[in-house]
Amino acid sequence: MKFNPLSQSHLEYLQSLVVPDRFSTGESHLDLHSKDQSRHLPCRPEAVIWPTDRTEVSAILKYANDNLIPVTGWGSGSSLEGNPIPVKQGLVIDFSLMNKILDIRAESFQVDVEPGVIYQDLNEKLKYTGLFFPPDPGARATIGGVIANNASGTRTVYYGSTKDYVLRLTVVLASGEIIETGTRAAKSSSGYDLIHIFVGSEGTLGLVVAATLRLVGLPEEFSAAVVTFPSVETASTAVYQVMRAGLAPAALELLGPECVELINREESLSLAVLPTLFMEFHGPTQNQLTDVLELAREICQEEGCGEFRSGIGRRERDRIFKARHELGEMIGRNHPGCDILIIDVATPITAYPEMIATAKEELISTGLTGYTFSHAGDGNIHLNLIGKKGDKKDWDMIEKISHRMVTKTLDMGGTCTGEHGVGIGKRKFMHAEHGSSLEWMKRIKSLFDPNGILNPGKIFP
Ligand SMILES: Cc1cc2nc3c(=O)[nH]c(=O)nc-3n(C[C@H](O)[C@H](O)[C@H](O)COP(=O)(O)OP(=O)(O)OC[C@H]3O[C@@H](n4cnc5c(N)ncnc54)[C@H](O)[C@@H]3O)c2cc1C
Repeated sequence: MKFNPLSQSHLEYLQSLVVPDRFSTGESHLDLHSKDQSRHLPCRPEAVIWPTDRTEVSAILKYANDNLIPVTGWGSGSSLEGNPIPVKQGLVIDFSLMNKILDIRAESFQVDVEPGVIYQDLNEKLKYTGLFFPPDPGARATIGGVIANNASGTRTVYYGSTKDYVLRLTVVLASGEIIETGTRAAKSSSGYDLIHIFVGSEGTLGLVVAATLRLVGLPEEFSAAVVTFPSVETASTAVYQVMRAGLAPAALELLGPECVELINREESLSLAVLPTLFMEFHGPTQNQLTDVLELAREICQEEGCGEFRSGIGRRERDRIFKARHELGEMIGRNHPGCDILIIDVATPITAYPEMIATAKEELISTGLTGYTFSHAGDGNIHLNLIGKKGDKKDWDMIEKISHRMVTKTLDMGGTCTGEHGVGIGKRKFMHAEHGSSLEWMKRIKSLFDPNGILNPGKIFP
C-alpha cells in the first residue's frame, strides 16, 4: 500500500481538528511515540494527536483515510512486540486524554469506560463497589491497549482474558464511521460476534473509543502458597496435576531459580532460590480454601516438592505479586548493554511440562543467559533471552531458539503468542499458525480498512 507523507496542508488540517496543544510534531513527542517496551527498532510518526472525544477521532480517521495517511492508535506504549510502533510513520492517535470512567453500574457488574483509562486506576475506583476488572497485564496499560492486545495476566487461569470481559464496543472505522457492537446482556446468540473480531486486532480494524466491560466481585477470601521444587520439570508436572485435579487456582505462576534470585535481590525478599510455584486460590470461606490448599499440598508432595509454605498473608502475597509483575523490568535493569527477546508461547496444559523442559535444554545447550517464568496454569511460557546489543552471534542463536520454541509449540497445538500479540515480532509465524485462515483474516482487514491505513505493517507477514 502506498501512503502519503504528511504535507504542510495535511498538518494544518489535522491541527485544525483539535485545540493547538493537542497536536504535535515536536521531536520529544515523536520520540515518545516511536517505540514500545520491546527491542523492536523505533520509528517516529510524523505527528501525534490527542483527541478528547469520538467525533474528533472520527474526523481524524476520515481525513487520514481520504488522504492515505497511516494511523496508529496509542495507549501507554507498554506492548512487548512492537504493536504500537508506527512503522509506516504517519499519524499516532494517543488516547491518553480520553480517560473517563463514564458509568459504573455496580448492580449489573458493568462499567462504561473510555479507551485511555488505565486499568489499575479503574480497579482502584471500583474497589469501593466490591468489584474489579480481572485482566492484569502488569504494566500501566490502558483499556484500549488491553482490548487491542487481548491482554491477560496472572489471574487469567481462573478469570479468563480480556476477551471474556468486553460486552460492548464503540469503534471508529478507518472511514470515520462510528459503529457500536455488542449489548449489555451477559450473553447473546445474536449474529456475528464483531466484538471478538476487534478484541486482539491490535488497532488494525478500527479504533476503540468506548467500551462496556463486565466486572466480577472481589474475592471474599484468598489463600496463597509458595512451593519449591528440585527442578522446573517437577514443578511443571505439579502444575499439570493441580489443573487436572480441578483445583481452579486464581493464579499459578512458575518461576525459574534465576528469577527467584533476581526478585530476592531487587525486592529484599528471602525466598529459597529454587524453581518455585506461587499459587493462589479465591473462594467464599477460609474453610473451603483450607481444603483446596490441602489437596494442592498433597499433589505437590506427590511430585516431590520441597517446602510447601501456605498461610501467606495479604502483605507478603502483594509483595510477591508486585515482584512478579515487575520481573520483566528487573531483568532489563540487570543487563545493561543487552537486548532481550521475550518468547511468549502458550501450549495446551498437557504439553506444558515438555515445553518447560525444552526451554531449559535450549538454555543449557546454547549457554545463553535466560529467565524462565510463566503463567503456568494456562500453559503460557515466557523465556526471556539476553543478548549483547548488536552481537550477531548472540542474536543469531536467540532467533534460532525462538524459532524452535515457537515451531515446537505450534506442533503441539499451541500458539505463537499467549498474550503479547503479534505486532512486528510474531508476524513471521502467522502462516504456520493459521494456515489458510490467514487469508480470511486478510479479507476481514480489507473489508474494515480497504486502504490499509490502520496500524500498517502489523499482524500480517
Ligand atoms: C513489564 C511489562 C509486563 C507485561 N506483562 C504483560 C502480561 O502479563 N500480559 C499481557 O497481556 N501483556 C503484558 N505486557 C504487555 C502490555 O502491557 C499489554 O499488552 C497492554 O495491554 C498494552 O496496553 P497499552 O495501553 O500500553 O497499549 P499500547 O502498547 O499503546 O498499544 C497496544 C496496541 O493497541 C493499539 N491501540 C491502542 N489504543 C487503541 C484503541 N483505543 N483502539 C484500538 N487500538 C488501540 C495499538 O495500536 C497497539 O497495536 C507487559 C508489558 C510490560 C512492559
